[in-house]
Amino acid sequence: RHHPRPFEKGLIRMTDLTDNLAKLDGYLARFRDHGIQNLIAGETRPAASGAVFDTTSPVDESVICPVARGGAEDIDAAAQAAKAAFPAWRDMPAAERKKILIRIAELIEARAEEIALCECWDTGQALRFMSKAALRGAANFRFFADKVTSARDGQNLRSPTLMNVTTRVPIGPVGVITPWNTPFMLSTWKIAPALAAGCTVVHKPAEFSPLTARILAEIAHEAGLPDGVWNLVNGFGEDAGRALTEHPDIKAIAFVGESKTGSMIMKQGADTLKRVHFELGGKNPVVVFDDADLDRALDAAIFMIYSLNGERCTSSSRLLVQDTIAEEFEARLIERVNRIKVGHPLDPTTEVGPLIHKVHFDKVTSYFDIAKEDGATVAAGGCRVGDQGWFVSPTLFTGAKPDMTVAQEEIFGPVLTSIRFSTEEEALEIANGTEYGLTGYVWTNDLTRALRFTDKLEAGMIWVNSENVRHLPTPFGGVKASGIGRDGGDWSFEFYMEQKHIGFALGQHKIPRLGA
Ligand code: NAD
Repeated sequence: RHHPRPFEKGLIRMTDLTDNLAKLDGYLARFRDHGIQNLIAGETRPAASGAVFDTTSPVDESVICPVARGGAEDIDAAAQAAKAAFPAWRDMPAAERKKILIRIAELIEARAEEIALCECWDTGQALRFMSKAALRGAANFRFFADKVTSARDGQNLRSPTLMNVTTRVPIGPVGVITPWNTPFMLSTWKIAPALAAGCTVVHKPAEFSPLTARILAEIAHEAGLPDGVWNLVNGFGEDAGRALTEHPDIKAIAFVGESKTGSMIMKQGADTLKRVHFELGGKNPVVVFDDADLDRALDAAIFMIYSLNGERCTSSSRLLVQDTIAEEFEARLIERVNRIKVGHPLDPTTEVGPLIHKVHFDKVTSYFDIAKEDGATVAAGGCRVGDQGWFVSPTLFTGAKPDMTVAQEEIFGPVLTSIRFSTEEEALEIANGTEYGLTGYVWTNDLTRALRFTDKLEAGMIWVNSENVRHLPTPFGGVKASGIGRDGGDWSFEFYMEQKHIGFALGQHKIPRLGA
């Protein structure tokens, strides 16, 4: 599996670790020299207080660079800039706005290698997956660029006396708050539709992964986006994040992160009646019936929990396997999990890299003991790898019961919990028996069962005989504690825009005459 000769993946020429480290060093020089500043009203600025924090690499805990630690004052400046820029951006002809979004996509592609290498170093995600980050990010911009010209379209709902017309208008300046797991892709996914709708943006990226958010804001600036349309404020959730959710000029908050943070944001935004869109956590089931194509089910189950370090909201973190095939299926699973390659994220052969941060590493590894205490078996992994950086071995818990902590809580690491079931009814009850409802994966060759099961499964997105394959026009989002609202296709515009109704009298219909 060693690749002696360079090959293309995504937009990147993949070589080897040594070569990638040398290239990374070149890309990091500017961050080391200047740190990461905010971008407000088109200007690169330090935090108003002058405060900074360090961002570190999960690979070896080394400091990458200092980052501006924004607070309420910086958020206020950014919100004012977004407010001032809004009318002109809203009113710019759609074709011109479309051109700028396409230009952003092109510049993302041009900096694909820099984006991928910086993302891997900052987050610990493996290059084999991040090599496509720029392609995905650019695709998000192109997809919504195509929709700019129709975003305001409405309906004509004629009545006997009126011509009733609907139209959509952008809601105003919005706040976008993103997590650290795949920060580049998620930022583009949230910001592209906001700009396409005609909104202006204040982006607060996760404090653990600020590198690519800065690159992205620079790209937007370079693409000719007017000053103030896209503002970047770095900082911690409890100060910059909080201030953004409380700011009166920010009309809506698009948030991706943990369910408990979503709940805090809803409270913080209550006084200013914020519209919120939440993409939150998951404890997603992959349900394998004994009539399924078991080879494909095995590949998909492994891919959906051990890719992206398991730091993936849509990961299949609960395996529900029918007891008739469980013994063999789990045995094959253990063999494969033990062979997953843990290593340096910039090595193209690495399958699992380090977890983002010590805080998260401590959380994930705490479940190894919790699983044992609850009576589950650690059938693979369950330990740290090496003594530098936040590497953990791909882990499998077997013999789990549906109410165990490891079967209920989102672990957000390369950790799978296997639970056995005997009947379809039991599988459904277990699948629906958590507070979450983001995705579900069902493996069966019985068509009627697939229909019956997916109809009752509580999840925003379900795949049958497939891993998660995203198609941008489809709705993305969760039910229960996994989220509020949908992204993708036209659904994104429902959040970033307001419906407006205008009734035109067709003639002189009778108006009731009071006091006449
Ligand atoms: P997090 O909730 O800790 O942080 C996310 C963002 O919110 C960060 O930018 C953080 O600074 C900010 N924040 C924290 N407290 C805040 C507050 N009081 N007010 C405003 N902002 C605040 O999440 P995380 O640990 O960065 O990311 C992992 C979580 O994200 C997981 O639960 C995962 O499932 C979820 N996620 C969901 C999706 C989805 O589409 N459903 C996608 C990716 C990640």
